[in-house]
Amino acid sequence: MDKYVIFGPQGSGKGTQSELLCEAFGWVHISLGDMFRWHMRHHTKLAARITRIMNQGLLVPDDIVEEVVHRRLEEHDWNWGFVLDGFPRTRPQAEFLFENWNLDAVIYLDVPDDVVQERVMARAAEGASFTKRFDDNPEALKVRLKEYHDKTKPLIELYDEKRLLRRVDATKPIQEVFDSILAEISKPKPSSFT
Ligand code: AMP
Repeated sequence: MDKYVIFGPQGSGKGTQSELLCEAFGWVHISLGDMFRWHMRHHTKLAARITRIMNQGLLVPDDIVEEVVHRRLEEHDWNWGFVLDGFPRTRPQAEFLFENWNLDAVIYLDVPDDVVQERVMARAAEGASFTKRFDDNPEALKVRLKEYHDKTKPLIELYDEKRLLRRVDATKPIQEVFDSILAEISKPKPSSFT
């Protein structure tokens, strides 16, 4: 079973690349954002706890996220493997993940800050009605970007220490990015480095 995390700033193509990987390898795409949005559409109990937070572009508290991830992975419908998209986003979430599952690698979709800023602002200018994402308004986008910088991006160091980080230039076209990911994940696994 292959266990991967895909990570990068908003607009780096995590969702698209996750889908391509799952199509190619039969893995399951586990997107925390999609799961939370499902709850909001269905007005579940969980939705009542997270709607305000998500609308503002803030991160959902770690205990809620960890419970959702734990339950999802306990379903064991991922015989070939999984790609976690949008998790972990904080240090405690990363520690929780490492305590429970052995990862093969973390695919980092690297996009320089100025390009992210441009993409994000272009998306905000298009307006929420175009993108259909309630949290794509300029205020929430700024908050999400700040959350990424403050809490998620620093995880690079941790992944690097664990020799899990596989960096890919995500400014390139979709197919090129995908090819680079394939090249990166075909390299020997971390355990065989030591
Ligand atoms: P995404 O679709 O991945 O951009 O996620 C949308 C929103 O869901 C984020 O802005 C957060 O409010 C929430 N979210 C998704 N994943 C996480 C996570 N791992 N930790 C905390 N909040 C999350």
